[in-house]
Amino acid sequence: MGARRASGNKDGDRRIGRRALIVGGAAAAAGTAVLARDELARLWWRVPGVEKPREPGAVDHAGARWVAASDANWRGADRPDDFGIDMVIVHVTQGSFDSAVKAFQDPGHKAATHYIVGQDGRVTQMIRELDVAYHAGNRDYNERSVGIEHEGFVDRPQDFTDEMYEASARLTARICARYDIPVDREHIIGHVEVPGTDHTDPGPHWDWDRYMQLVRRARTGTA
Ligand SMILES: [Zn+2]
Repeated sequence: MGARRASGNKDGDRRIGRRALIVGGAAAAAGTAVLARDELARLWWRVPGVEKPREPGAVDHAGARWVAASDANWRGADRPDDFGIDMVIVHVTQGSFDSAVKAFQDPGHKAATHYIVGQDGRVTQMIRELDVAYHAGNRDYNERSVGIEHEGFVDRPQDFTDEMYEASARLTARICARYDIPVDREHIIGHVEVPGTDHTDPGPHWDWDRYMQLVRRARTGTA
């Protein structure tokens, strides 16, 4: 979520299928050369039709509390098998923790993130990481990312507490470990950095240097 610019796109979530782009792009990049064995191993699972077992109430992050988002705010997928995950997108709620939970339970909201992190450091998961959450306002970025909301307002630096930074950094570090995502600002980005977005979160008070340092430290711990 986050503050909106005056005009621009809504969360349309309509673009060219990423599956076609990935497979086509990888094959094109390899040219006439034979694909290396590990590249093939990474491609075979992009074939559609893979269905993973799901347990009601299961979470992907230890310690997270499960509250289901309305299924109007995400779509089922089998990531990382149908779409690779190579990005974490940071959001700020522009409201309270409870109002964000409520919004994501509302089928009319048409958007939700996988996680919400509170100012007290609590983590609620509302969409499984294998599914595609509508949070970036860009279909390609939705399909390849995990979205994390942070409780607060972009113009209130005091909202970004130590507990929030630390809990979020642990969460992001675990996501990066799970999907082998590099811990850098190319792969851990703000909503504002998504092409075509009209949102400005997490805003100028989000301390990226501090956050990335915390993620790197936590990532080393999970290695
Ligand atoms: Zn946002």
